[in-house]
This record gives sequence, structure tokens and C-alpha cells, in this order.
Amino acid sequence: MSRYQSCLVLNAGSSSLKFSVLRRDEATEDLHPVLNGQIAGIGTDARFEARDANRRVVAQRRWNAEDSQRRGALLEYLLAWLGQALPEDRIVAAGHRVVHGGRGYSRPVRVTPEVLSALEALVPLAPLHQPHNLAPMRALAASHPDLPQVACFDTAFHAELPWVASTYALPQELSYEGVQRYGFHGLSYEYVSQRLAALRPELANARVVVCHLGNGSSLAAVHAGRGVDTTMGFTALDGVPMGTRSGSLDPGVLLYLMREKGMGADALEDLLYRRSGLLGVSGLSSDMRALQESTDPAARRAVELFCFRVAKEVAAMAGSMGGIDALVFTAGIGENSPGVRAEVCSRLGWMGLAIDDYANGRSALEISADDSILPVFVLPTNEEKMIALHTLAMLAASAPNGREADEGQPCSTARTPATC
Ligand code: ADP
Repeated sequence: MSRYQSCLVLNAGSSSLKFSVLRRDEATEDLHPVLNGQIAGIGTDARFEARDANRRVVAQRRWNAEDSQRRGALLEYLLAWLGQALPEDRIVAAGHRVVHGGRGYSRPVRVTPEVLSALEALVPLAPLHQPHNLAPMRALAASHPDLPQVACFDTAFHAELPWVASTYALPQELSYEGVQRYGFHGLSYEYVSQRLAALRPELANARVVVCHLGNGSSLAAVHAGRGVDTTMGFTALDGVPMGTRSGSLDPGVLLYLMREKGMGADALEDLLYRRSGLLGVSGLSSDMRALQESTDPAARRAVELFCFRVAKEVAAMAGSMGGIDALVFTAGIGENSPGVRAEVCSRLGWMGLAIDDYANGRSALEISADDSILPVFVLPTNEEKMIALHTLAMLAASAPNGREADEGQPCSTARTPATC
């Protein structure tokens, strides 16, 4: 008899399968991570590593080149390993991170054959991510048909953007075809907004700019917990520069590169996704920490450009909401780089924003100075927990004694079983 109910969260990329298991605490109804890790190098030299809640490595394994290509078998290995590593847990559902929900999915959805087909149709909108996100759903549906699965979307948080924020100034036939601004990192924005409202209830209805700064970076304008504007658009290339992605460009640059340099779609994709951003500007690294530790002037230029663009977008996001009541930093850089936070905030001094160097240096929850006109927070994001919360809420809603959720209908955050 299993003592605990747990949720498996999967985040599948082109060559990696990240996983987390979160266990439900029956007394508090909260979720706690028990294991996480990944299978990296899928397709070439697959390597498995799992860590416990204290970040201790508890298992490792490697596969040869041939076995590294057997994605289905690697997923089965993971499930079998979890079964023996967590003998007291019953995995009651799997939640998947899915990059694109298109216009159809504004909330998480229970995975069915119809939903899988609808998500497959969105592959052209996110060809680098969507197929990989869907693969484990299909594999699990075949091998474990009784395991409920829920898809949670990076786009969903932005589904209610006002039309002025979601529309490109292009002939509108293209909008009708789906060429519009979708926005990404939505699970992070949802988690961080809920967390802020839990920690500072007086800010639950506030206008908050959230800076999700990691390898992929974006900002969102969040008013009363709802997305109002965001820097990423049709794809996750738009907005601020990232580790290797360019961020916003004059579209004329692309025309120039096509005409004058003969670059086609593949070459442009490689340039914009893999050779630009911090890496492109510094010529050294895509890693913010490495750049901040470097004494090379090119590294400094990359950091300066990044901070300039983030500060500019904070102001733009505030403009979209008609004001700003709080600023939040999250994700790898946002949570861990006092230098980036200080530089971004110092560029926003004209807003009356000031940070406390001591609190900022310690990455405290609240880093604003006493005389700052706005509070500034550092809030660790937790997209896995957000996915698990949605997944278990969906399961509860479709349980015989719960309210039956229609297939394909969203799981409301209001029914989330525990606050995050
Ligand atoms: P992803 O978008 O892949 O989830 P993360 O959110 O993990 O990325 O962020 C990775 C980024 O965070 C890297 O650029 C890394 O250098 C940066 N980072 C992590 N820790 C620090 C630190 N202490 N100082 C500066 N940058 C950091």
C-alpha cells in the first residue's frame, strides 16, 4: 500500500528529459519535491542523473550510442527506476511542460488523443520545442494508458493579453492564421505572481513587472495576477537578449541578411537562436555568471547591453499597465545575480526605484531600499511545482467525487489544491 500520492513532472527537450517528483503532504495539502534530475544527451550519449530533495546525487547511469536513441526505452527506464526508488509513493499523474498551447488552450488540459492532435497542429509555431514536448505524452499514453496526463502551457498565462498587446501591425489575415504575440515563461509568471500574493497579500491586485532572467529571458506585466503584456512574442526569440538568442531586432536586419549575405531560414535560425545574445556580443560565453567573473571588456559590454535592455523593458511593461507597484526578479540570473539586479535598478532610478545593497547582495526576499518608491523582490520560480499543482487539481476535479472536468476543458487555478 503506497503511503504517498505523488506527481511526476516532465519537461522534454530535443536532447534532454528533465523530471521531478513532487509528493503531496496530506496534512497541509502542499507539495514537496522528493526527486529530480534528467536524462541528458538523448540521441547521442544518454546520461541519467537523479538528485534527492537535498540536491544529493542518488543515481547515475549512461547508455551506449545505440541505446541513447531509444527515447521510449529511456522513459520506461525512468519510470521503472522511480518505482523502485520511491517504494512508498504512487505516481497518480504526469504533468508535462508544453511550450505552445496556441489560441485554443488558455489553461492546462487533460491529455487525450484529440488534445494530442490539436497540439501536434501547433508544431509549426514552435518547431524546436513542441515535438519534443509531445513525444513523452504519446509514449506514456501507449505504455501507461491508465496514468492521467496533463499538459501545462508556457503560453497560457498570456492568453488574455489585450488585443493591442497580442497583435502585430501586419495585414490582419496573418493574425487570423495565428501570427500574433503569444508570450512564454507563463508557468513561471503564474507561480511567481501567486507567491507574491501569498507573501504580500496587499499586492494581490497590484501592477507588477516580473523579470524572468535565465538562459531564456523575458519580462511580463502582471496586473492583479493576470498577464497584460510580455516581451516575448510569436516565438521565444523576441524581447531582451538572452544567453544565445538575439531578442528583438529590426525585421529589416533579417531582410538585409537574406539579400546581402544569402542567408536562408536555417542559417538565420542558427544565428538568432544559437549564436547571438550574450554569446554573440561577448564572443566568449552565454553564461551570465562566467561573463560577470570575466575581466574581458567584451564580457562587460554583453552584461551592460543585457541590463540596458532589461531596464528599458521594465519601463515598457510599466507603461503597458499605466504604472507599476512592484518589481520582481526571478530565474537563474534574476535570483542569483546581485550585479545584474543592481545595474537594472540603477538604470531605473528615475522611477524613484532604489535598492538596498546589503539585502541585494544576500538575494533577500525584498531588496528595495527604505526610500524606494517601489518594493523590489527576489522570488525563486518553481515551474515544476506549478505544473504539479495544476495536474493534481485537474485530477481532483475529474475524480468521481469531484467536479467532473470536461475533456479538453481547462483546470482553473482557483481549484488548485494548495497555494504555492
Ligand atoms: P534556464 O533558462 O535554462 O532555466 P536558468 O534560469 O537556470 O536558465 O538561468 C541560467 C543563467 O543564470 C545562466 O546565465 C547563469 O550564469 C545564471 N546564473 C546562475 N547563477 C548565477 C550567479 N550566481 N550569478 C550570475 N548569474 C548566475
